[in-house]
This record gives sequence, C-alpha cells and structure tokens, in this order.
Amino acid sequence: MSKPAVSTELLWIGGRRVKAASGKTFDSINPATGETIAKVAEGGPDDIDSACNAAAKAAEGPWGKKTAKERARVLFDAAKLIRDKVETLARLETKDAGKLLGDSRGELAYVADVFEFYAGAATKHAGSVPPVSGRGTAITLREPVGVCALITPWNFPAVIAAWKLGPALAAGNTVVLKPAAEAPLSCLKLAELFAEAGLPEGVLNVVPGPGPGCGDVLSAHPLVRKVSFTGSTKTGAAVMKAASDTIKRVSLELGGKSANVVFDDVGDLDACVEKSLWSVYGNAGQDCCARSRALVHHKIYDKFVDKFVARAKRVVVGDPEKDGVELGPLISERQRERVSSLVNSGKSEGCEVLAGGKAPSGKGFYYEPTVLAGAKPSMRVFREEIFGPVVSLTPFKTEEEAIRLANDSDYGLSGSIWTRDVGRAMRVAKAVKTGVLGVNTSSSVFLEAPFGGFKQSGLGRELGMQSMDAYTELKNVFLSDD
Ligand code: NAD
Repeated sequence: MSKPAVSTELLWIGGRRVKAASGKTFDSINPATGETIAKVAEGGPDDIDSACNAAAKAAEGPWGKKTAKERARVLFDAAKLIRDKVETLARLETKDAGKLLGDSRGELAYVADVFEFYAGAATKHAGSVPPVSGRGTAITLREPVGVCALITPWNFPAVIAAWKLGPALAAGNTVVLKPAAEAPLSCLKLAELFAEAGLPEGVLNVVPGPGPGCGDVLSAHPLVRKVSFTGSTKTGAAVMKAASDTIKRVSLELGGKSANVVFDDVGDLDACVEKSLWSVYGNAGQDCCARSRALVHHKIYDKFVDKFVARAKRVVVGDPEKDGVELGPLISERQRERVSSLVNSGKSEGCEVLAGGKAPSGKGFYYEPTVLAGAKPSMRVFREEIFGPVVSLTPFKTEEEAIRLANDSDYGLSGSIWTRDVGRAMRVAKAVKTGVLGVNTSSSVFLEAPFGGFKQSGLGRELGMQSMDAYTELKNVFLSDD
C-alpha cells in the first residue's frame, strides 16, 4: 500500500501562514495507522509572543470598532463556509484525531451550529439599567475582555475550539488559540475559513505546539487578559497558577469521572444498557463527560452486567473511516499505555475483567471495549479518569448509598440517573454534586445551556448565554441628573 501524502502546516499569526520562529516542526499522526499525515510548525515562546502582539494590535483595529451586528455577520459567514466544507473538514478530523467519520461529520456540522448560535447571541447579549439609589441613571455595559488565550485538548478538537471561539469573537475579543499538538489540523483550517469570512487579520491566531514552551508561555503572557482552558485537572491547576500573577480571568473545563446511576425501576433495561454503554465507549471513551462509573441497583445488577457485557463483546472495533465500525482508536500510543496500566491496576486491586482488557494486535492505537466488575471506591479505576473505553461496575442497595458512591469523587462534571420515579429522580439530581446531569438519558450537554464542572472538574461555565458573560467585563456608568 502507498504511503499517505504528508502535508506541511504552518502557524496562523496576523492573518498569515508563518513558519515557527525556531524552524521546528512536529508530526501529526493518524491514530488509526500510526502514520504521519502532516509536518506541523511547532509554536514556541517567540511565536506565542508574535501571536499575542498580533491579537493586541487587532483589538485596537477595525474589529474593536465593529458593531455587534457586523461581528455577527462574520460569524454567520464563517458558519456557512464550514457547513459547505463539512465533508472535507470531517475527513481531516478523522485522520488527525482517529474519530469515527460519522461522528466527525456530526461534530463539524455542530461547529457551524455553534458559530450561528453565537452570531445570534452577539446582538442579544446586553447590559442593564439597574435602579440605583443616586439621582441619575446607571448603565451597565458589557465590554470585551481583550486578548483571550484559548487552550484546547485533542478529544473534540474543532468542537471545543468552537465553544470558545464563538462567544469570544461574538463579544468582540481577539484570540490566540493553542490546539493540542496531537490533533491541531482542523483548528488551523477554521482560522483560514474565518479569514475568508472577513475576520480582520490578527483577530484569530492559531499556534499549535506542546504544553511546556508553548501552552505555558501563552497562559502567562502579559498581553493575555483571559485564559479559557480545557484539558486535564493537573494542567488546569498549572494554567490557573500561571494566570494568577497578572490576575487574568480564568475558565477551566477539566476532567471527569461521572456516575451512571441505574435504579431497579429503570423501565426499558435494554435501552438503558445501550445508552449507558455508548456514554462510556463513545469517542473511544475519550470524553470528559464519559459515564465511566456505572452504579447499579443490586436487584438488577446481574441482569445489567450480562446485557452490558454481551453488547460490549459485539462492539465493532476498527478503521474509523469504514461504515459499520463502532469504536475507533485512542489518540496515541501514550494514551493506550495509560489506559492499559489503569486496567491492570483494576485487575490487581480485585476487579473482574468481563470483557476486553487488552489491545488488539496490528497497527493503530486501538483498545478493546472493557468491562471491569466489582469496582470499589478505594480502587484507582473508580477514582481516576481513564479516558479510554473502560467501564467500572459497582452494585448499590439504597438511594443513599447510590448518592454517596456518586459523590465519592474529586470530580463533578456529568452523570446520569435512570429511574421512572420522578421524586427520586429530582432528589438524586439535587444531591449529586456535578455540573450537568441526564435523567433517563446520557445526553446533558446542549449548545443553549450552561456546561461546566463542580469540584476539580473546573471553574466557570461554557455554552449558552453564560459563555457570553465569561468573555465580557461589566462596566457601570453613572449619568448624573444634574
Ligand atoms: P492536557 O491537560 O494534557 O492538555 C490540554 C491542552 O493543554 C493541550 O493543548 C496541551 O498542549 C496544553 N498544555 C499542556 N500542558 C500545559 C501547560 N503547562 N500550560 C498550558 N497548556 C498546557 O489534556 P489532554 O490530554 O489534551 O486532554 C485530556 C484531558 O482533558 C482529560 O483529562 C479530559 O477530561 C479533559 N477534557 C475536559 C473537557 C471538559 O470540557 N471538561 C473536555 C475535553 C477534555
């Protein structure tokens, strides 16, 4: 078979494709094959500095003077260009991040939805006129924060970038986006499409590169006024520290270890098992919202486990570009080693491996869909984010015990509750310490509603109109009657 074409990708700074100041490049790898698909310019401290300066200059230029309606027009036009190119962008995302092609198509169409939503939000996000005690009128204005650093992970490269770019640009900010080095290609393409849509030069800069020497430099750069970060809790803590010297605004979307709580009055158990399974195996488990801890009422535990295991063994693992494939590869060999070592720790701490538990042979970074039964709160597999297709199963006896187990985590991002008892659904939903929850579903993240974490899962909220708040400063102007 012939080797794939290897493209050359440059940084995007000041509205132009530029080489890295150091001249260095890194390889972008197709996780399905292990082959290099692109040589990407590697951003370093000098490039971050150029990008921050370009963004600061652009904030003083035409972008800063545009009306909300004019900014909205650029976002609508960018959304249209993305929609027209969904197939090309989706194929690129699949090659770069190893996602199922069907998922990539859905994600890129959704990226256009995100920009349309925030184009609409630009003209609706307003200040207020609070009735103050002074004689006169107080007018509360929403103003852009300034240069925003957007640091994103590899699991939903274009989607998570869009969650940040949409509100940041709609609110009138300028940005430096640092995508993860594992999957930077779709973000570079988005920048080109925004330029085609009329975004002035320097408003959006994209500098792919590693965490150390690129991401850390960006999160501490003096010209940056806000950092919006999505990634691991450990890196989030480092970003927060780096941002603290100059009191930057910080939004953090971090890790999760969400509970899927299944009561014995679940109703349609087959539907519950199917949705529960994809709530942890979707995107090969590389999802911060993965319901990776299934807590199941003891009366239906055996039945649930049997059905789950039977379905896990039928999951079609393979080439993410092929029709009918249900589970693609992990992002990298490093990620696969991490998943494998956590599964091994589960085995040695006493979990029973009922399905999977190993990597299939052959090329690519695949891992079998895995079921670990008998997980206890003391075990690493119950506590640590695995970020792979691995579920741990734990039985419970009472509602109180289910709540206690669900909350026995440093994280608090997502989760599901399965019951037909409305009172119980509300009691448990209120008691579980987590930012989003689904009742009788594994969906809980919507473009129009806030998303974010409790505890060590993060700080602040993305999506909805709440995200417009997060990319603006509030200023109060008092006009005296005198
Ligand atoms: P990561 O924290 O290693 O990297 C995230 C981003 O930060 C990358 O762009 C990386 O290059 C950069 N980075 C690394 N070190 C840095 C530093 N010191 N300073 C600044 N930037 C730095 O995470 P990852 O491995 O790319 O992604 C997986 C993690 O992200 C998981 O823990 C997952 O739960 C989390 N995640 C959370 C959400 C959410 O919305 N809560 C969404 C997706 C992923």
